Amino acid sequence: MKFRYTLIISIFLLVGTLSGFRKQEPKHFYKGNLHTHSYWSDGNTYPEEVARWYSDHGYQFLAITDHNLLQEGKKTKVIGKDTIRLRELAGYRNEFEKPGKFLLLASEEISDSSEKKPVHLNGFNLQTVVKPTGGATVAECVASNVKAIREALKTGENPEWITINHPNFGWGLTADALARCGARFFEVFNGHPSVRNYGDSTHINTENMWDQANKWRIDKGEKLILGIATDDAHQYDQYGVGKANPGRGWTMVRATELTPAALYQAMMEGSFYASTGVELTSFQSNKKGLVIRIKKEKDVQYTTEFIGWLAGKDRPEILKTVIGPKAVYRATGKELFVRARVISDKTKENPFAAGDGEMAWLQPVSF
Ligand SMILES: [Zn+2]
Ligand SMILES: [Zn+2]
Repeated sequence: MKFRYTLIISIFLLVGTLSGFRKQEPKHFYKGNLHTHSYWSDGNTYPEEVARWYSDHGYQFLAITDHNLLQEGKKTKVIGKDTIRLRELAGYRNEFEKPGKFLLLASEEISDSSEKKPVHLNGFNLQTVVKPTGGATVAECVASNVKAIREALKTGENPEWITINHPNFGWGLTADALARCGARFFEVFNGHPSVRNYGDSTHINTENMWDQANKWRIDKGEKLILGIATDDAHQYDQYGVGKANPGRGWTMVRATELTPAALYQAMMEGSFYASTGVELTSFQSNKKGLVIRIKKEKDVQYTTEFIGWLAGKDRPEILKTVIGPKAVYRATGKELFVRARVISDKTKENPFAAGDGEMAWLQPVSF
């Protein structure tokens, strides 16, 4: 009998450990911008002023992604008659970073080109600078730069923290190049006025590109590509439509703590949404479907569209539209993937394009 009791107790402990007894860390939303510039490249202010802008405007993390460098070593800037030595990230970060409140990520925008088209990618929390690799075609160039960033990140805690930037800038990337590049993230929204998020009469918009890329990845059995929103800010003095200002697009990450490792883990799991103003109080996305709760602002109306790709179809479609602050989509089993976007009737202040409403994009989930 003793054996049996021991066995029962063992099973009880095992089941307990696997299910309810493991401590669940509470999660918080952290607001961050993962693409911006300073005097270290073509931004028009000091990196400390960029950090100050974001820490003063309710952000918890920031990647200043100057072109093809990290903010380290000697760098000067000629301003009027003066030649000014710029401060390194290691020199100014302590003035802004506070545990749980604000975090800076040493980051770079790897800026390359192929076939006379721009190919830009961000690498986050880098220890060493990554040199652009080049490539015979745009598709090869993107993929080889992804590999180079991955190589630089491989010894750290965030080996796949790479985004493909503004795919329609200079009509640089096709959906096919985006699909095949191997990166986990791309910019579905970039706030820079030249990036053509919405496409034109002969080029698809970034959302459609997202769905096309994910259809390809599902067919190949690869992980889905996830969408972030960023500012790509360059101008911090004059504000208006047509200027590359901060405050246009950001990423809300639901993570256990404000550390690079926790943010990265949450993003890899798709536990985040991209926003230009719409705030979510909660979301769930799993094999059963998607549930969204929107933080309602007075007199603002919200429309949630669940966009998916059904098996056997040749294009994505809006599978369901919900008006109001709560939206639920239950999977039917016919979907390859479904994502959600929320459109509000509140006009975005200082938008990417005149007349834009505030939006949010929730990550696709495959079935
Ligand atoms: Zn760029
Ligand atoms: Zn940029």
